[in-house]
Amino acid sequence: MAAQSTENSSQPTENPPSVSIFVDRSAVDSATIQYRLVFDEPDSENTFWLINYTGNVVSSTGFISDKMHKNEQALRWDGETKSPSVTITSSANEGNGQEYTATNRWILGPTPQLSVAWAPSRNSRWQYRQPFQEDYPNATVKFADSGVLGSTFTYIGAYEEHTHHADGQQFQLIVANDAAPADPPSEIFKSLTMASKHMPGKSPDKVLAFVLPDPSWRGGYASPSRDELWVHEDARLSGPRNLWIHEYVHTRQSFELGKEMMWFREASAAYFASNLSVEQGRTSQSDVLQLLTAKKFDESALSKPNTWASHEVPYYQGAYTLWALDARIRNATNGERSLFDVFDRMNSHEGTIDYGDFKRIVTNIAGQSIDPWLNQYVTTSALPELQEDVGSIAGDVESNKVDDSNSRKTSGGNGNFSIPDANRLPVMIDDSSLTLFMWGGLGLVGLVFALVVAQYISGQIKRIRKF
Ligand SMILES: [Zn+2]
Repeated sequence: MAAQSTENSSQPTENPPSVSIFVDRSAVDSATIQYRLVFDEPDSENTFWLINYTGNVVSSTGFISDKMHKNEQALRWDGETKSPSVTITSSANEGNGQEYTATNRWILGPTPQLSVAWAPSRNSRWQYRQPFQEDYPNATVKFADSGVLGSTFTYIGAYEEHTHHADGQQFQLIVANDAAPADPPSEIFKSLTMASKHMPGKSPDKVLAFVLPDPSWRGGYASPSRDELWVHEDARLSGPRNLWIHEYVHTRQSFELGKEMMWFREASAAYFASNLSVEQGRTSQSDVLQLLTAKKFDESALSKPNTWASHEVPYYQGAYTLWALDARIRNATNGERSLFDVFDRMNSHEGTIDYGDFKRIVTNIAGQSIDPWLNQYVTTSALPELQEDVGSIAGDVESNKVDDSNSRKTSGGNGNFSIPDANRLPVMIDDSSLTLFMWGGLGLVGLVFALVVAQYISGQIKRIRKF
């Protein structure tokens, strides 16, 4: 059955019940994180539900199991219990085992998603807040040990914290127990801050980054639209990859991509990581091009994932094609516009971006149709000529055609997720995806894996709570 409320209402001003969140590792399973939420007594007039949750509800007191109108599981307050509580667990074994890590000394696991739905009075609209997100008005967090609770990641264990403030942004770096980042935090902050400035769209208020040692996968992981990421301690700022920027770019991707555009998520992260690293003087364009052309993928066409010779296609062929496309756009606009503008437009796009949308956006930014070019290099396995595009630009740094940071615009209004102000339950909140980047060792070209994990995510305000 569905909870209903009438639409018309007085202005709701009440907050949801205060909540205390206790976080600990499970005593029975060391890969499991346990979150116990104890709510203050809801106002007796109020209707109070827990909805849209991920993880496992292992116990609850004062809630009745119920269903939303699309049959989703939900918990409804029984209307009597003074301190209703619920215990939810999440597991570091979720996904394919590469995104999260559990060791004897520390654990990084997924923070569950959970929405509180309540109606301030009988005739008012439903309100939604998420106790694991910053928008919850009255939440306190306690760890049994020490830890950091983010919107996407929960870390439990000893850690070292570094914080950096720049241009109204806060960067928080959590170095896990025994991890030793390859570059000093000050350099990491410098690189991320510069990247953040150059990326189009509104910069996030807070960015939370973790540095993990082995046995974490030797790569990184980020959640688009959430400003949280982790990288392995061996990640370096130098070189054409710059995993720090790569993962950071993922956090700035708020677009949704159709199947024909799936390649763009990793391709654009790899493109911007290399482009901004060149700009920061951390690598050269020739090193970038050497890397991106080091692998051949035969008959792989970007827009046809079923033709991909490997999951590395977006990282190499995709990023290479974007270098060439960026050069086309800059040439067509006398350096006024670039792929950064395309990225910005994609973030503002409502709904899923398919290949037709992408062509329209590129045409709009370039001021002319380059559809034939796109059709050739996105929908077939053909590669743009190095001399024609990237090569000429690579040797043309001083003319500032590539390093044209002035042409980049910043504008607000990215399509971050928000909770729909629906007036009936339930609201299943938008899906998004998470991405994973990994690489091999020894300075070789390395292995790169793309991974997409569907997760319910919601909320546009991020918060870190730690103890
Ligand atoms: Zn990636």
